[in-house]
Order: sequence, then C-alpha cells, then structure tokens
Amino acid sequence: MQVPFLSFQPQHAPIREEIMAAVGRVYDSYWYVLGEEVTRFERAYSDFNQVAHTVGVANGLDALVLALRALGIGPGDEVLVPSNTYIATWLAVTQVGATPVPVEPDPATSNLDPARLEAALTARTRAIMPVHLYGQACAMGPIMALARRHNLLVVEDNAQAQGAAFEGQLTGSFGQINATSFYPGKNLGALGDAGAVTTNDAGLAQQVRVLRNYGSQQKYYNEVVGYNSRLDELQAAVLQVKLRYLAEWTRQRQQVASWYDEHLADIAGLRLPAVATGATHVYHLYVVHTPVRDALQQHLTARGIGTMIHYPVPPHRQQAYAALQLPAGSLPIAEQLAATCLSLPMFPGMTEVQVAAVAAGIRSFAGR
Ligand SMILES: *Cc1c(COP(=O)(O)O)cnc(C)c1O
Repeated sequence: MQVPFLSFQPQHAPIREEIMAAVGRVYDSYWYVLGEEVTRFERAYSDFNQVAHTVGVANGLDALVLALRALGIGPGDEVLVPSNTYIATWLAVTQVGATPVPVEPDPATSNLDPARLEAALTARTRAIMPVHLYGQACAMGPIMALARRHNLLVVEDNAQAQGAAFEGQLTGSFGQINATSFYPGKNLGALGDAGAVTTNDAGLAQQVRVLRNYGSQQKYYNEVVGYNSRLDELQAAVLQVKLRYLAEWTRQRQQVASWYDEHLADIAGLRLPAVATGATHVYHLYVVHTPVRDALQQHLTARGIGTMIHYPVPPHRQQAYAALQLPAGSLPIAEQLAATCLSLPMFPGMTEVQVAAVAAGIRSFAGR
C-alpha cells in the first residue's frame, strides 16, 4: 500500500462547495484587496487565537519581518533564534538588519531550551524568537520569565503550531507580537501564500497595518518606508471557511500521532516525538529520529511511502549564512537533529490502515 507524505484530498474534497461559495462571493464583490473578507478573517482568527488583534499579510516570512519592524528591531540589535528552525526565522532577523544569534534546542523536543538562552545574551540582545517546531508549544513559561528578567521582547514564530498551547495559553498569544503562516501545507493553509501577525497591543497592530500597505494609512500619503504585503480577499475568504474546521483537523492529527505512537512503539533505534510537560502538540509534522535515517528513507521510498526531512541543513550551514563563519560542529545539537530526523506521512483524514502501512514499512527495514 502506497502512502503519500501529504494529501489535501480528505481535507478539501468534503468542503469543496463551501470553498467555491466563498470564492464566488469574492468574485462577485468586485473588491479584491483589503476589504471585508480580510477584516472578517482577522476577527475570526483573533477569536480563535485568543488575542485582541490579527493583521493579515502576504506570507509567514513577511509576518515575521513586519513584527520585527513594528518593534523597531534593526541594525545593531541581536535576536535569539533556534539553531534548528526553518530558515525563515533567521531570514526575518537578517532582513530587518539585525543579527540572528542561534541557541541550541532541547534534543528531546527539538524546541528552544530555556536553560541555554541566558548564555547567549549580550548588551545588544533585544528579542527572543521561540519557534513552536513541528507543532509543539515551546516552554513559554520559563521563556517569558527570562524575557521579563532581562527586559527582552518576544516574537513567537507560530507558523507550525496554530492551536497548540502551553499551560492552557495558546501559542501566538505570549509574545508582544507574533507571526504565523497560512502556506497551504500548514495546519491552517490557504490556497496560496498567506500569513498573519497576532498581538494584544493595539499600537503594534496599527503599525503592521501601515507597514503592510506601503507605509500608508491614507492612500498616497506614506509615513514610513513600508511593504506591499497584503492578505488578499480570496485567501481571506477561503481561510474563514477552513478556520471553522481547524479544531477538528487538529483532533485528527493528534489521533494519527497516537496511532503512530502505538504502532511504532518498541522499534529499536527509533526515537518517537516526545511531548513536554505543560505543552500540547498539534502535529504539523510527526518527526522520528534514527541514526540510519537516509537508509530508512530510501527503504520507505522504494515501498511507496512518502517522507520528508525537516530540515536537512540547519541555517548556520547554509551558503546564505556563510558570512557568519559557523563551521560544521559549531552547533552540534542542530546538526545531529538534522542528520537523524525523518518526517512521516501526517495529514488530517489519514487512516489507521495508512499508519499501519507506514509502520509495517519501518518494521520491514528494522528487521532486514
Ligand atoms: C512556513 C514557515 C515560515 C514561513 O512561512 P511562509 O508563509 O512560507 O513564508 C516561517 N517559520 C516557520 C517555522 C515555518 O514553518
């Protein structure tokens, strides 16, 4: 039995009519950028994420950049980022002219290790960017406490964890201002690029509204050097429909994860995802670790089972960051995780039969 890494079919086929009605509504409105659909989605997402303000933007990277710009972070500032995140987190810091300072994760969860943050602080440190990697909430209690102690700002990268929580509070609602992505494959995905900033600070929300629209509040009057990074009406209309299903899709992801936990228990040399005390996990990805990762991936590919690696090369080893001169071995935890991680098929609507087929593929490798 073949199992794709990701299929949108179980998510999208049952809501086709609703999505098409939303698309038709925008088509017939004759209004396509920054209108009522965006406003309605922003309100709905604020309710979902339990924040006062959501500002829709063009994608997740822009959401991070605009959040940092709204905080006034720029040249001369240092921002603490995870060493093992998707490169977007680092790129946002670099694009506002600040310096990303990598901090190694807790290898058990792949999330930022609060105990390691303190050692990375300098007189220039302005902010911490926790990334809720793979869908698991970071230890936001200790991170926020440390930020308060050292007078640092917090910008959550919530691209992978919509609906996750730490001690009952939703990710994307802890930092002064936070970013998320609605890239199609994210837990809440548009039919194209989209993203948003979330905050409880009305002033910061207003600054992002200005920045996303050419630095302008009044058309053709520009107060700051802004961007064109608007969420469009079509994506906002689609996202309103899909947001209504997100809680159910999250439940399904968690069900798939618990099937994996059962079917993959007791396979020697295979480390399954661990959920930390106080955190919930919404399983954007179900990531296992094994020292024989490449051979296992080849074995599964040959059996028609789709897998991915998130991510094969940590940001400090990318050519884009060669100027930082962080050689191989300089961030050993990130490098070790990158060399051993494997993301198994995970999507809402995946069946236990499909999970069992993936598990059988892995067992046939383990017993080879
Ligand atoms: C997807 C992602 C982003 C960027 O989102 P885009 O919408 O693709 O720009 C940023 N950070 C993390 C952790 C992501 O997974």
